[in-house]
Amino acid sequence: PASAPPAAASTLARPPAKPAVFIPVNRTPEMQEERLKLPILAEEQAIMEAVAEHPIVIVCGETGSGKTTQVPQFLYEAGYSSDDSIIGITEPRRVAAVAMSQRVAKEMNLSQRVVSYQIRYEGNVTEETRIKFMTDGVLLKEIQKDFLLPKYKVVLIDEAHERSVYTDILIGLLSRIVALRAKRHVPLKLLIMSATLRVEDFTRNQRLFPQPPPVIKVESRQFPVTVHFNKRTPLEDYSGECFRKVCKIHRMLPPGGILVFLTGQAEVHALCRRLRRAFPHTRRRPPEKEDREDSVEELRKFKKSRTRAKRALVAALPQISLDSYSVLPAGEGDEDREAEMDEEEEVALGSDLDLDLGDEGEDGGEQPDASLPLHVLPLYSLLAPEKQAQVFQPPPEGTRLCVVATNVAETSLTIPGIKYVVDCGKVKKRHYDRVTGVSSFRVTWVSQASADQRAGRAGRTEPGHCYRLYSSAVFGDFEQFPPPEITRRPVEDLILQMKALNIEKVINFPFPTPPSVEALVAAEELLIALGALHAPQKTESMKQLQRSRLSCPITALGRTMATFPVAPRYAKMLALSRQHGCLPYAITIVAAMTVRELFEELDRPAASDDELAGLKAKRARVAQMKRIWAGQGASLKLGDIMVLLGAVGACEYSGCSPQFCEANGLRYKAMVEIRRLRGQLTTAVNTVCPEAGLFVDPKMQPPSESQVTYLRQIVVAGLGDHLARRVQSEDLLDDTWKNAYKTPLLDDPVFIHPSSVLFRELPEFVVYQEIVETTKMYMKGSRAGGQLLA
Ligand code: ADP
Ligand code: MG
Repeated sequence: PASAPPAAASTLARPPAKPAVFIPVNRTPEMQEERLKLPILAEEQAIMEAVAEHPIVIVCGETGSGKTTQVPQFLYEAGYSSDDSIIGITEPRRVAAVAMSQRVAKEMNLSQRVVSYQIRYEGNVTEETRIKFMTDGVLLKEIQKDFLLPKYKVVLIDEAHERSVYTDILIGLLSRIVALRAKRHVPLKLLIMSATLRVEDFTRNQRLFPQPPPVIKVESRQFPVTVHFNKRTPLEDYSGECFRKVCKIHRMLPPGGILVFLTGQAEVHALCRRLRRAFPHTRRRPPEKEDREDSVEELRKFKKSRTRAKRALVAALPQISLDSYSVLPAGEGDEDREAEMDEEEEVALGSDLDLDLGDEGEDGGEQPDASLPLHVLPLYSLLAPEKQAQVFQPPPEGTRLCVVATNVAETSLTIPGIKYVVDCGKVKKRHYDRVTGVSSFRVTWVSQASADQRAGRAGRTEPGHCYRLYSSAVFGDFEQFPPPEITRRPVEDLILQMKALNIEKVINFPFPTPPSVEALVAAEELLIALGALHAPQKTESMKQLQRSRLSCPITALGRTMATFPVAPRYAKMLALSRQHGCLPYAITIVAAMTVRELFEELDRPAASDDELAGLKAKRARVAQMKRIWAGQGASLKLGDIMVLLGAVGACEYSGCSPQFCEANGLRYKAMVEIRRLRGQLTTAVNTVCPEAGLFVDPKMQPPSESQVTYLRQIVVAGLGDHLARRVQSEDLLDDTWKNAYKTPLLDDPVFIHPSSVLFRELPEFVVYQEIVETTKMYMKGSRAGGQLLA
């Protein structure tokens, strides 16, 4: 090796250029046999030779070919974790990081002390860890701590085809880290693993990799999959359609697992419950006497609560006995029971009932058939790890496996024994509004590439079938590939993270696909306004200004902000609130402002007069509660933010009970989410500032008058550019400007939403979270409740 690296560099041990060691692994014979069936085993030598000769290697292979589970093992055996170094693998999803670490530990017959995982606030990494699965965000944080990643001899970026923002950034960063480590003669190997062959963004990108890395293709044994399109135009109620399809497959088609793709956790649970009820594992024993009385009582109540509509419907369909929709599941907890009851109501009132029943009728009018057990399992990102692991177990003897999943099952996880895929064709994606910068989750059609990936899940072990719940014409209109996430969203959070890494000239950063210059400039401008970046010096020309705009260094405040897991605006609010005991309030406000839709939608059309009366009464109740929560005098200056604080506080006093939420028009799920986020933010604040010694006190006292004043300043500091001023009477252009506000960016009048407590107050200045256009331009926080501030 040539000259020594500068002393400032990390403490890097200098390993031999090519690890020559062979570390034996003591696998069980069964496991070894199972491994040998994987297509990637045939490529072991090719991959290891490429890794030995090149700093960067791309491995492409169909999902299930063995990339994630096997490549780390190849590297381990070849000694890439000797000398106390670690083989690091990043996953865009937490569920994959956890599941894959468990699987690899099991295959290698090693404990989770050696093959471990780390996700944001959780992990089992020890001194002994040699293979570490982590989310891409975790590795990014490690790069912030030590840019050269001295602990690693090799880093694998998994699921690169997903093009998640953090994966893209990591690839850009690692291209530089690999070069720096080479200069210091302590090489770092980078492996990029992708499920598709579409890797040109990596290989044909001179800036990213001046020498295109070799691509190793893994041939996979894929059995033919017959794709069946729906004839009908796509249905709104795809969950109901999935249910019907699974019933049909289970009753009529030969053995083989079923995998259903839905878009979200709630849908997954609802379908699981419906399927379990339709095909129970065991016939229900008559309940014990006491139980029976209980459930008879509940059944009676439930029947009473049925609407006339349902009675008429059920009467018209005598082949469905009432009881088959009303029996409570045996042995489940109260919570589940409650959920079950809720869902019953939904099933009863929703339009999907008649659809299902109609179709069941076509199938011969069978009643759910309890003699054919279906082993129904949910799978989604936030599912507890031990529950996730269940999908990999063989189903109980004599049952058929049915996994109801979100798109985590599309490429991240391969479930054994799937022969039938039911694809709703939709995916839930974060949607970012370029104008307001506010994000929301929307359900959209998947891309053709994703739909084909999903279909491919059916042909892993034998020829399979994929049922698409949409027509081939609709498929023809799908995008070919999903656009990389980085091109679809504002990037201020990313830019802040990169600046925290001392990457000042983001315009020069080797993004696999760069965001637009406008998006970069907008991000820097916002960050400068928030005080996270130093403003550029005054320069002569616009061009120069723009260039310097894209190279502003981070401030100390910016560094603190970069450590909070929320968007920079809200991070700024947190960073400012360590005064006068404001932190717990600021944390609650930020949590409540970043969760979607705190209040239930009460403006929805009602199906009956009864329902309409109910909605009206509830609207009145919510309006009254909002006035109470908003308080009087000084606290009113916090406007709807005071309402948020009041609502969260009151809900916590009730023990965060679903009944309380229901009675007061609050979304129970949002309240649970806020509670979780408050915990996370408190941990983050304590990490930056241990002397704050914060803990989550659910039952906060309302803020004092002076605290209200500070909180107001704090919120304005984050939302200062979202300011609107009331149009003065002398400026009134015409009637359309009555009670209107003016913002710097829009020519049109904007208004305070009627749901805001400031609707009648009409203060001179307000700040808003977003502007939503319905009948007028309304300033709002979330769809059902404005968050404004006097
Ligand atoms: P890839 O990363 O190429 O998509 P994986 O390495 O994830 O492939 O999977 C390889 C094989 O290992 C698949 O056939 C899959 O079914 C199997 N597998 C993965 N995880 C588990 C598990 N936890 N239990 C049983 N089999 C598993
Ligand atoms: Mg994989």
